[in-house]
Amino acid sequence: MPDFVLADILKWLNGRAKGAARARGILEMLKEFGKSNPRDSNRADALNARLKRYQSFPFALSDLRGSGRIWIDERPLKRNRTPRSYKETFVVRKFVDFAKAGMLGGFRRCEHCTAWFFAKTGIRQRFCCKLCRETFRKSPDGREERRAYMRSLRETLKSIESRK
Ligand SMILES: [Zn+2]
Repeated sequence: MPDFVLADILKWLNGRAKGAARARGILEMLKEFGKSNPRDSNRADALNARLKRYQSFPFALSDLRGSGRIWIDERPLKRNRTPRSYKETFVVRKFVDFAKAGMLGGFRRCEHCTAWFFAKTGIRQRFCCKLCRETFRKSPDGREERRAYMRSLRETLKSIESRK
């Protein structure tokens, strides 16, 4: 997915639209689903009942600038019982695509401002941006975390020393 599409999804997802709140709920459910007991069928039913609202059909658009690329949108089916907007349908369908690709873990909430962001695979990223990371580091929580980390580091070093 191009970066600008992902950026657009995140901007909408973190916004105030009613649909965005629903989409955030589904994203959380999808992420939690992988961790839940596989025999917990209530959880599967609850998630699937929600996903059912996002039946869509692929809708091809050509790039008007003439790049030759095509763009496949996801449009909601009109016969959906509770129709969702184009945007909400598109975003939820994208979450499903990410889930299929095993990449849902990339969607995370910033530990400072709680906004959703996408961490590039393989990177242990906890904050949405540099500013949030720096602000957290200087906060009492951040300082305490650092102290705890340094303590455990010293203890590890000490135990290695004593084994020599
Ligand atoms: Zn943040």
